[in-house]
Amino acid sequence: MIVMKFGGSSVADAACMRQVETLVRAALPEAPLVVLSAMGKTTNALFQAARTAESGDLPGALEVQRAIMTAHRRAAEELFAGAVPESLDTALTEHFGELELLLRGVALLRELSPRSMDAIASLGERLSTRIFAERLGAAWVDARTVLRTDGAFGEATPDPAAIRGLAVRHLAPQLGAGRAVVTQGYIGATEDGLTTTLGRGGSDYSAALFGAALGATEVQIWTDVEGVLTCDPRIVPEALPIPELSFAEAAELAAFGAKVLHPATIQPAVEARIPVTVRHTLKPQGRFTTISAEVRTGRPITALASRGPVTVLTVSSSRMLAQSGFLARLFEVFGRRGVSVDLVATAEVSVSLTVEADVPLKPLLQDLSAFATVEVSEDRAIIAAVGERLKSTPGLGARLLSALGGINVEMISMGANEINLSLVVRRDQADEALRRLHRVLTEAA
Ligand code: ADP
Ligand code: ASP
Ligand code: MG
Repeated sequence: MIVMKFGGSSVADAACMRQVETLVRAALPEAPLVVLSAMGKTTNALFQAARTAESGDLPGALEVQRAIMTAHRRAAEELFAGAVPESLDTALTEHFGELELLLRGVALLRELSPRSMDAIASLGERLSTRIFAERLGAAWVDARTVLRTDGAFGEATPDPAAIRGLAVRHLAPQLGAGRAVVTQGYIGATEDGLTTTLGRGGSDYSAALFGAALGATEVQIWTDVEGVLTCDPRIVPEALPIPELSFAEAAELAAFGAKVLHPATIQPAVEARIPVTVRHTLKPQGRFTTISAEVRTGRPITALASRGPVTVLTVSSSRMLAQSGFLARLFEVFGRRGVSVDLVATAEVSVSLTVEADVPLKPLLQDLSAFATVEVSEDRAIIAAVGERLKSTPGLGARLLSALGGINVEMISMGANEINLSLVVRRDQADEALRRLHRVLTEAA
């Protein structure tokens, strides 16, 4: 079997869904499990509705709910030429009713817990899959019966062993050559049946989890670009598709902000050694990227990505830095405060670290002040150059740095796996830095 995952832009309206239908029908001999995102920007709209309700503005929230309803009804009407089957109509009405009830509850309490947010967000994928499954005449499976997670609402951690067992029970019997099964990306449930989500963009992750659980021969990520490109095309328009990527390169790129793949996607695929392809829904005959374990690209730089805002903390302690145990003490503070550190660079009398921009700094700084002074630089971005021969290509570092010209590099870090070189720059200079570095990538290819 194969997994075919279609992102929000691929199922944005009735015309898009027809295109997806064509692709799925052509793949029927391969026993596809179709994993869908919510239509277009529905998840954003659901978040907006929930936050509006939380502020106490129920009419505002219900207005957003109505807009969501209209878009889905219109798509259904168009797909079925005005004759929406009763079963679908009933299902849609039930879903909209559930959404309204949830929004009323949030507005009444003026309280939006991550748990309530997940329940609300789950409606996007449940709606899109209902419509599409009906159109295809395919089996519809509630992903929450299979995708078991912990209770970390908003960014739940899946339980692969449980998912395997549940997939064998609920999905495998329905799969077979000649028919498709449709399910949702992004959403899951705890053992107690509470709805969870895997975090924004999580449908890719779902696809890989389902693929690993079912022993798929391929996980296809269908989206709006011809595969993984050498850089984000919105920033560097001349970015080119990459035909082959190693698992390690793809994982680094995703972790450092290449939005085309959810950062965790690669991990279940790596463990099960399942190739992941990234393809353009509207250009199925066009170029695409294959990500697999076998690939050894040997390129100096394969691609660039950037992530921000991040905050740089420069920790100095002239007394203690050279002493053994200093770093242990330093990281103990971060561990205790539950703050994860991204890049680290050490110097004679200081250590620079990057953390996410939204971490609570105050308690952290308070703890650190007991034994060090800390300088805080906010609004920075990490730029990552990823490539398998990055380290062994002489002079490459110098070329990258000189290409940056007047853009100041505040921190440099070579990833321990040696395929990632990360630079920290001011966030407002990150796009320009990417454009300049991309020229080096093109020349070094
Ligand atoms: P989907 O809705 O299909 O999940 P996303 O919007 O999440 O699609 O991801 C696709 C988008 O990722 C592309 O439209 C592109 O703008 C962006 N992107 C960022 N970096 C890259 C990259 N290196 N290669 C391809 N696309 C990228
Ligand atoms: N619909 C979810 C989101 O917009 C998940 C996804 O599309 O991958 O984040
Ligand atoms: Mg996505």
